Amino acid sequence: MAVAGGIRIVDLAKELKLTSQELIASLHGLGVEAKGANSVVDTETANTVRSLMEAASVKQKIVEIGADATLKDLAEAMQIQPNVAVKKLMDFGKLVAPHQRLSRADAEQLAGAYGFIVAIKVEKKPLLSAGNKHKAPGGALQARPPVVTIMGHVDHGKTSLLDAIRKADVVAGEFGGITQHIGAYQVEVEHNGEKRKITFLDTPGHAAFTEMRARGASVTDIVILVVAADDGIMPQTVEAINHARAAEVPIIVAINKMDKLDARPDRIKQQLTEHLLLVEEYGGDVIAVPVSAKTQEGIPDLLEYILLVADINEFKADPHGHATGAIIEAKVEPGKGSVATILVQSGVLRIGDNLVAGLAYGKVRSMINERGERLQKAGPATPVEVSGLNFTPAAGDIAEVQKNEKEARALAEKRQDKARLSRLGGPVKRLTLADIAKQAQDGVIKDLSLIVKGDVQGSVEAIIGQLNKITEDNEDEEVSISVKLSGVGSISESDISLAVATGSIVIGFNVRADVASQRAAERDGVDVRLYNIIYDLTADIERAIKGLMEPIYEETILGKAEVRQRFQTPRGIVIAGSYITDGMFRRGAEVRVFRGKEKLTSGRVDTLRRIKDDAREVQHGYECGIVVSDWTDVQVGDILECFEMRQLER
Ligand code: GDP
Repeated sequence: MAVAGGIRIVDLAKELKLTSQELIASLHGLGVEAKGANSVVDTETANTVRSLMEAASVKQKIVEIGADATLKDLAEAMQIQPNVAVKKLMDFGKLVAPHQRLSRADAEQLAGAYGFIVAIKVEKKPLLSAGNKHKAPGGALQARPPVVTIMGHVDHGKTSLLDAIRKADVVAGEFGGITQHIGAYQVEVEHNGEKRKITFLDTPGHAAFTEMRARGASVTDIVILVVAADDGIMPQTVEAINHARAAEVPIIVAINKMDKLDARPDRIKQQLTEHLLLVEEYGGDVIAVPVSAKTQEGIPDLLEYILLVADINEFKADPHGHATGAIIEAKVEPGKGSVATILVQSGVLRIGDNLVAGLAYGKVRSMINERGERLQKAGPATPVEVSGLNFTPAAGDIAEVQKNEKEARALAEKRQDKARLSRLGGPVKRLTLADIAKQAQDGVIKDLSLIVKGDVQGSVEAIIGQLNKITEDNEDEEVSISVKLSGVGSISESDISLAVATGSIVIGFNVRADVASQRAAERDGVDVRLYNIIYDLTADIERAIKGLMEPIYEETILGKAEVRQRFQTPRGIVIAGSYITDGMFRRGAEVRVFRGKEKLTSGRVDTLRRIKDDAREVQHGYECGIVVSDWTDVQVGDILECFEMRQLER
């Protein structure tokens, strides 16, 4: 019942399906003190509570669909008739049939129209379940440190926060903070009088986070969403929220830059409600911690909350048996070969273990942590940088220890074959350096994978050093260089097959490719580039990632023909009945037409016919019918020259 100027608590509570006590508690959170069930709240406050309750109930409305869901799938998941969904999309000017696959943007738009949020289901590979909360078969699960990723809008302080957290580490303090970047680190903190560890991933940007998930690696238990208190929720903040939701990972909000005079944490909390993250004050259970990466204020609280969320979720792993884990990052390092940071997810990783990571394998030769300390073994949730793999795996690849070297090799080789076959069979054209340049120019993010072979170890290391420098100098370019394999010796067939499997370009320095590998490269379309001056090599790579590498074309004459007869079809198509006097003609190739000494026109071989059949090519000494695009003024005696533009190696 409405009363003058507002509504009674008891009535509003009934409307919202709450008890009066619950409503009074919520109002208290909003800073409104209500005396009892019969007291009256003003209309404005009532409306605020109503909209918050609505937001809170919407919170449950997440619709989960597969990455290649059709419109029908989404409609059914939302319990809407597919034809109604088709019509709704038509209202947005999009025509999608029920059985057509929905783009992410269309799915979000359609779901949004019905008040849903789309979460993309990612099929987790069963292997990793051992690293998560699920029960490992026959194994005893034990508590493990939580693994945390920090996400948020650019400049809101992700990097600063990671640094601040490192400083709060009790162990790092003892070591004077000598640290090494391996893509992840662990800190140890006091929690309820107990020393507890937390693992932080310090590489993944948002794209990396989803890419890892797409590869099957679910490496994060908790997402810290950083929002600058002097700014607010920005596009990448929203993106981060969506990624975390899709991964079903709990979010803790860190409201950063609290030291700034214009910090307005309340505004951030309010904005969060618009994205269905309800902090306590708004009746929700999302933890928001005010912090300053600059002054360290609030950092201990943030760490406490992480452990609290970890305790609630009981992250566990089986610490026994062979290790499995996920590759966090990997690179080639001078003097060490391929090094990869592995986040161990279950079991124990030991020196000498036979490891398979994605397509790579090898014996674990050394393991170091982020302080550069050598380890003999590493258990669940520990990130370690290992050396010994035969080439560089990709971030997100799953790493698993095998029983012996033979099995490790067999598994890796089987995977390489599979990857190579699927690449060869697929519609994707193999990449060349010129393609990379083109993609860089078009602003498409691209990973430039290389296989580097050189005459001596010294030159290989110099090249790797230079490539690392190019990556550092060109951080802004949206191309990253990753060396999959480096080694001494000529380019072999197995280098080429690895290049196919990993989509790499092969670089040779002062070495050659033997005949078999040249043939394999030609057959499989692998770009092999040979150099004998390091500068030329690095200049090419740099030009490619900056998109500055214009391809060079050269004209090749394929053949010549003489017109012997002119035909015209009833539909008006003019055919030059010709005799190939030299070389050959190819359908689709370019043509120049000469009459006497004069060049008449040029075009393309639209149709090529031998007797009555379409032909792809006609060789020297044969007669054929040729239709040249846009050329009808055909006369007996005209000379045709067929040519092609070939892209040249630089
Ligand atoms: P990222 O892009 O999210 O990694 O952000 P950064 O960590 O690089 O920080 C962006 C800028 O904000 C830098 O100039 C930092 O010095 C500054 N910054 C980060 N945290 C704080 C903070 O707590 N207080 C203040 N005043 N500045 C901060």
